[in-house]
Amino acid sequence: MDLYEYQAKELFAAHGVPVLPGTVVETPEQARAATEQLGQTVVVKAQVKTGGRGKAGGVKLAETPDEAQAKAEAILGLDIKGHVVRRVLVTPASDIAEEYYFSFLLDRANRTFLAMASAEGGVEIELLAVERPEALAKIPIDPLAGVDLAKAREIATAAKFPDAVAEQAAEVIVKLWETFVTEDATLVEVNPLVRDPQDTVIALDGKVTLDDNASFRHPQHAELVDQSAEDPLEARAKAKDLNYVKLDGQVGIIGNGAGLVMSTLDVVAYAGEEFGGMKPANFLDIGGGASAEVMANGLEIILSDPDVRSVFVNVFGGITACDAVAGGIVRAFELLGEVGKPIVVRLDGNNAGEGRRILDAAGLPGLSQVDTMDAAARRAVELAAAAAVA
Ligand code: ADP
Ligand code: MG
Repeated sequence: MDLYEYQAKELFAAHGVPVLPGTVVETPEQARAATEQLGQTVVVKAQVKTGGRGKAGGVKLAETPDEAQAKAEAILGLDIKGHVVRRVLVTPASDIAEEYYFSFLLDRANRTFLAMASAEGGVEIELLAVERPEALAKIPIDPLAGVDLAKAREIATAAKFPDAVAEQAAEVIVKLWETFVTEDATLVEVNPLVRDPQDTVIALDGKVTLDDNASFRHPQHAELVDQSAEDPLEARAKAKDLNYVKLDGQVGIIGNGAGLVMSTLDVVAYAGEEFGGMKPANFLDIGGGASAEVMANGLEIILSDPDVRSVFVNVFGGITACDAVAGGIVRAFELLGEVGKPIVVRLDGNNAGEGRRILDAAGLPGLSQVDTMDAAARRAVELAAAAAVA
């Protein structure tokens, strides 16, 4: 889960990383009030989960409450790389002497953690990495040894942080490491980490990605989930322990096993080209134990997506045999009542014959069976295209 800047900075503050105070507001009037409260020049910052807000006009200085109201008015509703701004952070304007870059991240390729730091921050770090790679220090972190003050000093030196702030930066780095480890993050990034005219080091921006696999260890992280931004169907699927991802096509996909589902997406997209570009509407993996209830839940979620025009159930029977899956589909129809959209089923593998017989015998309305994956995909996109015209 990615966090908003204000949430990232709240976590930073909880771990002793120096940040500026701020108020998150939803209206220009509230931005004015927040500025009056702070009684100083502020910065109004779009809260969206994407970088480059500054460049996109989502970060603006305001010297007075009036100005803050006008800036908030301009920023709220702005579309930044597909993210519509619903809230802004009103925070004191910092007098910036220098901007640095710092991050801890999971380095998957090298199977370790990595610290990246540069005295040339503020700019897009991807650009710096390409144009002046020597200015970006990359230091692997042994996960068992972690980052103590000595290691942090080594990072600060490699980053070429100026002497006047190197020791302070090292202390901040230790606290950022504490944040990274204790919160189970896969990314903690500060860009810019600034030096103000009094030589104080402050995290002016914050980006944190939490490892969802560790969420069971952090019940308090549930509060960080932005319900309004979650896809409601994805939230419902998550509550039912289904692996569901909403995509932007028209053919609902249910399969057992991530590998099969992924190849089904490809086959459907390929077949769809011939039918005006029909595409998968989602990714739904019902996993190994495809019980009737799981199948019913999966179908229910997919059928409630208004974009879905046809559904392709692609199952390769293994430990869960096809007759059990077929039974699940029959039961799902009973549980759901009206289905209303065409469903194409392809059963193969363990007990496929028995599974097909069960579905034939049930005579479920709108359900057809096709024996091969390619032909079934083709049928599903054809039905979706026909529904689009109707
Ligand atoms: P993004 O990375 O999404 O563009 P930032 O928070 O990094 O957003 O803001 C962009 C730039 O705006 C920063 O590099 C900094 O120069 C300036 N800025 C951000 N917050 C403040 C602040 N509180 N005071 C002064 N300048 C700021
Ligand atoms: Mg930034």
